[in-house]
Amino acid sequence: MNNTPHAPVTVIGLGLMGQALAGAFLKAGHPTTVWNRTPAKAAPLVAAGARSAPTLGDALGASPLTIVCLTDYDAVYELLGANGVERDLTTPIDTPLIDTTLINLTSGSAGQAREAAEWAERRGARYLDGAIMAIPSGIGTAEAVILHSGPEKVFAEHASTLGALGTITHLGADPGLASLYDVAGLAMMWSVLNAWLQGTALLAKAGVDAVTYAPFARQIAAGVADWLPGYAEQIDTGSFPAEVAALETDARAMEHLIEESEAMGVNAELPRLIKAMADRAIAAGHGGEQYPVLIEEFGKP
Ligand code: NAP
Repeated sequence: MNNTPHAPVTVIGLGLMGQALAGAFLKAGHPTTVWNRTPAKAAPLVAAGARSAPTLGDALGASPLTIVCLTDYDAVYELLGANGVERDLTTPIDTPLIDTTLINLTSGSAGQAREAAEWAERRGARYLDGAIMAIPSGIGTAEAVILHSGPEKVFAEHASTLGALGTITHLGADPGLASLYDVAGLAMMWSVLNAWLQGTALLAKAGVDAVTYAPFARQIAAGVADWLPGYAEQIDTGSFPAEVAALETDARAMEHLIEESEAMGVNAELPRLIKAMADRAIAAGHGGEQYPVLIEEFGKP
């Protein structure tokens, strides 16, 4: 019944992201109840048709589905824990979230997500954790990727409502998965950007501006991205035959990058770090294998 085109929804937390989430639900025609610690932030949403709940308890009771989007997990506990709902609601203190489905889109770690799932479920709620891989202006468009993890059944029940926010995915039953994918995506993003900045800094020393180098960098990044499925198979099978190049060949090229960076007066910390990892793998006997064998170095504490 909740998975209807116009199922009611509550949004708690009307910061930049919470306002965008509530706005997208309204635009998609969902009766939307909102609540924020600073009530004034609800005004534009009320003008657009939202109902501003007078209390947190009222907000939680207004819809079968409640989205929470606050600064961090501490804020979630501060609000929904002893200082919030448990004081605010007339329901028994140990079951204030009974019959509520909570989807927590607050950013945090996998451990925090698992802890919050247990915390919410102990209080009778159904719980999904989520990660938003988008900026507020993208919410409500297909470009907004929103990851969810936790019980599949809960996701399926609310998928059509959640679809108003963007491209939604359920990753698995472990509530920590959405946060893990989130940080894995960030690792990818920063690694690509850092590699690009290294090359841009090098070429700048030769008078090549960033805009000139960018299309070449883009081509290289896209080419490397195409290697991922094949390399992933090597990782999953634990077998790394050097079909393209051996790690020791890569290591020699890394040395060139370090030397070139030092000679040009460019920061060589990043190339040295990568070379140190490759050297350890070679010392462990993996020099004749292919690059993804470095997963063993990445997998260590
Ligand atoms: P924001 O604009 O700073 O809003 C923070 C929200 O949390 C406000 O509604 C604030 O209430 C509320 N809050 C903080 N502490 C609270 C407490 N102790 N009790 C009750 N409410 C509390 O942040 P945001 O940009 O909306 O981000 C919210 C979450 O979305 C974060 O986890 C962020 O990492 C994630 N996210 C944001 C973006 C983005 O581009 N903005 C992208 C992806 C993910 P008041 O209004 O009363 O201060």
